[in-house]
Amino acid sequence: MLDKSIQYIKGIGPKRAALLYNELGLETVEDLLYFLPRKYIDRSNTKSINNCFVNDFVTVMGVVKQVKISGHKKKFLEIVIDDGTDTLSGVFFGGIQYFIKLFEKGDTVLFSGRVDYYTNKQIVHPEYDFIGDSSDTLHTGRIVPIYPSTENLKTNGFNSRFFRKIIYTALSEAKQFITEPFDADMLNRLQCMPLSQAIECIHFPSSMDEAYNARKRLAFNELFFLQYYLHLSRQYIRQTSKQKKPIINTATYHAFIKNLPFQLTGDQLQAIEEIINDLNADFPMNRMLQGDVGSGKTVVSLIASIAVISRGQQVALMAPTEILAQQHYATFKKLLPNTISVALLTGSTSQAERKSILDGLKDGSIDIIIGTHALIQETVEFANLGFIIIDEQHRFGVNQRAQLRTKGAIPDLLVMTATPIPRSLSLTLYGDLDISTIKEKPANRIPITTLAFPVSKLEAVYRSLEKYMDEGRQVYYVLPLIDDSEKLDLKSATATFKQLQKRFPNKSIALLHGKIQNIDKEKIMSLFNNHALDMLVSTTVIEVGIDVANASIIVIEHPERFGLSQLHQLRGRVGRGTYKSFCVLIYPDSISPESIQRINILTSTDDGFIIAEEDLKIRGAGEFIGTRQHGKGIAFEFADPINDFELIGIAREEAKKQVEALKDIPVLFENVKRPYTMNILEGIRKKHILAMLS
Ligand code: ADP
Ligand code: MG
Repeated sequence: MLDKSIQYIKGIGPKRAALLYNELGLETVEDLLYFLPRKYIDRSNTKSINNCFVNDFVTVMGVVKQVKISGHKKKFLEIVIDDGTDTLSGVFFGGIQYFIKLFEKGDTVLFSGRVDYYTNKQIVHPEYDFIGDSSDTLHTGRIVPIYPSTENLKTNGFNSRFFRKIIYTALSEAKQFITEPFDADMLNRLQCMPLSQAIECIHFPSSMDEAYNARKRLAFNELFFLQYYLHLSRQYIRQTSKQKKPIINTATYHAFIKNLPFQLTGDQLQAIEEIINDLNADFPMNRMLQGDVGSGKTVVSLIASIAVISRGQQVALMAPTEILAQQHYATFKKLLPNTISVALLTGSTSQAERKSILDGLKDGSIDIIIGTHALIQETVEFANLGFIIIDEQHRFGVNQRAQLRTKGAIPDLLVMTATPIPRSLSLTLYGDLDISTIKEKPANRIPITTLAFPVSKLEAVYRSLEKYMDEGRQVYYVLPLIDDSEKLDLKSATATFKQLQKRFPNKSIALLHGKIQNIDKEKIMSLFNNHALDMLVSTTVIEVGIDVANASIIVIEHPERFGLSQLHQLRGRVGRGTYKSFCVLIYPDSISPESIQRINILTSTDDGFIIAEEDLKIRGAGEFIGTRQHGKGIAFEFADPINDFELIGIAREEAKKQVEALKDIPVLFENVKRPYTMNILEGIRKKHILAMLS
């Protein structure tokens, strides 16, 4: 029944079914049941028209008394409604022909919006919805669900009233077929309402509380099944890919640590130990190394690489940008003994070189390959890939990660990120990863001073830059755009570069941005690295990973254009050496109070975890989880990773307990029934897991 096409629901039929499918993707009865109200109108909260005053935001309900075209030069449509206390007009300036057909005398309608007064009370372009007549309790109960629709559907009469009707019919026919995935004991323990009741209540709640609890149950479903799946896949991989890994020669990496020019921090040592334990375990490592910018993740991954090479396997390190790959390559070359052979493979590697690298990977003569997503290409084959490191992993889609992984038997995987993920989110998204965290910064670091100035103080800032450059320091100068734009009143890197050249005629300054050829980017970066440049004017291409210890100042214009975590990342480009470092934010005259508030967060803390939490509050989870449209993340229908934090914890514990109690995981895993909630895994997670299994 739940799988049946919606066309069999009374009131739909094949033609409407096709339209609903095309416009909203609704195909089966189950889809319809999970088609959620956009909002509810609590009719005890609607205002009587005589109580509406100008500038109030209100929802009113009344009967259409008149549909008329008014105005002299500029015509507009007026829908006059009456609720017994007074009249109010819904006014439409555009789409007159459309709206004139939509509203009929005698319809009961809801209008929401800001009250205006012209010749009578009115709401211009109100949000509107239709309510059935008062004999029909479905539409006139206290809480009325309002469904999302598209213009095209509305033209065809698919308004909330229509949805209420068909969903009501679908519910009465199909409710008994909704299977409860949880047993009575679990429902009881977790105090949640049965699924079928939740689905009914989400459409037709008798109170707002009930609607809230229904949503909570559906959110729990979603979170629970995600966690269940993550735990299951984790257990599955652990149990089915048991392998005896070759033995690590501990002496090699111990000696390396001893000879490092600096002392590793306690957190770095701890992370190394956790990684080595996984490398020695009989299951493949699946670990995330998170640590704030500049916490020294690279060297940790390098030490792990030495361990893997000592057991006779190859290592692949994938970075999101060419510049970063080059830098890692330089670091590895510099630090590793020359008995270990390292190669760099990116989009700009020449054909001849590429061929010899591919051969070297295939015959095993190259130990470590560093590159961009060029590494994922089909032609890249390994003799014995044992370890994959992915830097700045949030820059990659999960698919790209999975693809690289298929290049080895079941290689150990370490993903690194400097975008600390708030705990609620990491539990949701990376429930299948073990996490190592570096919180400590290397001891020699002097904290970065962050200052914010209005653009009018720019000349004073320039004078300081001059002084520091005279002392031998280098400067990053970051702008939000490459070129001037007609639409945006923002300073661009290209224009600013020219100005700065004029302002500092004795300094050598270069311009770096995404449109510059890779080969030139490389040259510019290496000039900057070798201190042949005093200043690098750039866009956010330098955002991730770049490490030049002598650069001690970063100026960022238009900080209001960047996310907090992004600004924090940019700031992390300095403070990498032993010099006192500065991050200078230059904001325009016209800046919103919210932007000022954001800038204040940045000047008051340099803890990436706190900044990430704040960023999450301000911008929502989208930044972290991606959106389904982009095929890069998980989109929840009901759950909210921020507000449902507690629920995530409960779902995780519950799922873990249940998975651990299972006897036969592999079989079960293959047969995981696909409750509707698995939709959330559809895009990426499932493929990820399948790719890892294949
Ligand atoms: P991130 O964690 O942001 O990737 P990097 O790995 O690029 O940071 O490290 C930043 C800089 O700090 C590098 O130049 C690295 O050599 C240096 N570094 C790493 N660990 C230490 C340490 N324990 N003491 C001093 N410097 C360190
Ligand atoms: Mg890094």
